[in-house]
Amino acid sequence: MKNLWNEQEAKQFSGDLNLRVYTSRLLGRDKSLVLHGGGNTSVKIIEKNILGEEETILYVKGSGWDLETIEAAGLSPVRLSHLLKLSELDALPDPQMVNELKTHMTVASAPTPSVEAILHATLPFKYVDHTHADAIVSITNTANGQQRIEEIYGDSVVVIPYVMPGFDLARICAERFKKYANENTIGMVLMNHGIFSFAETAKESYDRMIDLVGRAEEYLNSQQAWELPAPGAIESSAVNSVEIASLRRDISEAAGCPMLMTSSDESRGLDFARRNDISTISQQGPATPDHVIRTKRLPMLGRDVAAYVKEYQQYFDDLAPQAKEKKTILDRAPRVVLDPDLGLCCVGRSAKDAAIINDIYQHTMDVILRATTLGGFRALPARDIFDVEYWDLEQAKLKKGGQPPPFAGEIALVTGAASGIGKATVSSLLQRGAAVIGLDLDPAIESLHERKDYFGICCDISDEQQLEAAITQGVRHFGGLDILVLNAGIFPASKRIHELSSEIWRKTLNINLDANLVLMRTAHPLLKLAPSGGRVVIIGSKNVTAPGPGAAAYSASKAALNQLARVAALEWGPDNIRINTVHPDCVFDTAIWTDEVLQARARNYGLTVEEYKKKNIMKVEVTSHDVAELVTEMCGPLFAKTTGAQLPIDGGNERVI
Ligand code: ZN
Repeated sequence: MKNLWNEQEAKQFSGDLNLRVYTSRLLGRDKSLVLHGGGNTSVKIIEKNILGEEETILYVKGSGWDLETIEAAGLSPVRLSHLLKLSELDALPDPQMVNELKTHMTVASAPTPSVEAILHATLPFKYVDHTHADAIVSITNTANGQQRIEEIYGDSVVVIPYVMPGFDLARICAERFKKYANENTIGMVLMNHGIFSFAETAKESYDRMIDLVGRAEEYLNSQQAWELPAPGAIESSAVNSVEIASLRRDISEAAGCPMLMTSSDESRGLDFARRNDISTISQQGPATPDHVIRTKRLPMLGRDVAAYVKEYQQYFDDLAPQAKEKKTILDRAPRVVLDPDLGLCCVGRSAKDAAIINDIYQHTMDVILRATTLGGFRALPARDIFDVEYWDLEQAKLKKGGQPPPFAGEIALVTGAASGIGKATVSSLLQRGAAVIGLDLDPAIESLHERKDYFGICCDISDEQQLEAAITQGVRHFGGLDILVLNAGIFPASKRIHELSSEIWRKTLNINLDANLVLMRTAHPLLKLAPSGGRVVIIGSKNVTAPGPGAAAYSASKAALNQLARVAALEWGPDNIRINTVHPDCVFDTAIWTDEVLQARARNYGLTVEEYKKKNIMKVEVTSHDVAELVTEMCGPLFAKTTGAQLPIDGGNERVI
């Protein structure tokens, strides 16, 4: 366990609150301590209120903030005296507790204080730090966990049996702290949950956290349970994309909406999923209650979604009648899948969610394997996990956030995505919540967007093998294919037919037509499995209906592509795949419109370049963004019942009209 405190860095944080920010970030930086919004910290500060009276304020992590990136504004200021009075109550239901926390803040706009605020308030130290350290949850999730903790720490920590986070936990911590703490006590271990440290300064409280967790790691090390053996050379199975897309479709059906599913041939996940004892060790429960709301109670083993759903419903029915009030299942779909051929798959409504679930499960695998080495991973009883999973406060967290974007959970593939209309279409699709796979010959495609919902692949689409490999890679990355935008194309230099070489003719047809046939053929079985139906948009051209002199190869290739799309509309309609075409014109912010091409085209019409650019009825220039927005809308509900259509976007053209 590395202590990350740095004097130089610390100097930039002056005052009690800023130092709280600094050491919170240090905790957040170490993923073996806290993950994605997990853990919380606080500091007690005496301040003068508007009446000039002194009062102690508890600054405690607010909801929606991550320790790694927290700022002073992420710590909610609550009046300590009120919190201490609340801690004396016999009982306080959670919704009322949250109301009390919110109505006793000194800044109305501050975030909702952590549900562990009262616990922080009762600990008589200025700084309090709380994490869900891997080492602690590995040890406490074993049969004789408490005995091991006592052996490791003696009286330097107070041990708290498992109680669900909230008021009851705060009360028990306060009671046990009063009863068992002595001058050696520097922390508190919460069974099956995590650890607290506390002190009078930010540095000391942080140092103590590192020291305490370090001791747990040393203990695991002494039991040969810390360093996990590296997975051996694992043969990853040849999995075809259709199998992956089928699984994702079944999961989306169970969830009631399209979901993304990430998978990789990474050996750790495969090794774990192929263990002989996987059906025991993976089916205990989460490592800490903090994870259950994201990962659900248990991962799915294999690909039988119907069986998982049935089992989940049974678990719910068994426990729900005993719950304080009737709760509802939001959805029955798994979030983690362990499959001997696919390895670890993570399911989320967005790529960001799936990545968070992946992080959590990577740590969960460590925790399970370490606890197994200690003699057996034993998570909380199903009853306790149920209480957290269907906890009002957690349910409220899941429900908020309003309407999801229109393409949430869906996957689009765009060719020729590094520039022009393709690039603009990627942006429009991302903006509406789709995860996007961008293909282009230009290596810049790989770094077009640095975000989880974008995956750029450098690929020559006229090479059949490269194209198929790229699709497989894309499906591995996001789980399937819902939307296909056929945009890549070339526009060769202007040549009259009598001077047009066979070489240029073939190259143009190869890229603009043949490659799209391969793409459509490969994508068809995947689009068929799209949870909300497949959608294809073809970027055609005005030249289909109104060709120009000097563009024989281009016009012929686009006209043939247009015909291909019309046949696809006939063939694929019964598969719930719709395919529509846009015919743009006068779009000059794309890669094909070099100065040379522009001048040549203008000459062909006997116009200047300026005249040529606005040669449409409305005298407007059409941008790549305009086309991209139309393409994206054509994949949405507005065009839900349209297929085989051709729509011009060209400012009006006499020959087309
Ligand atoms: Zn916690």
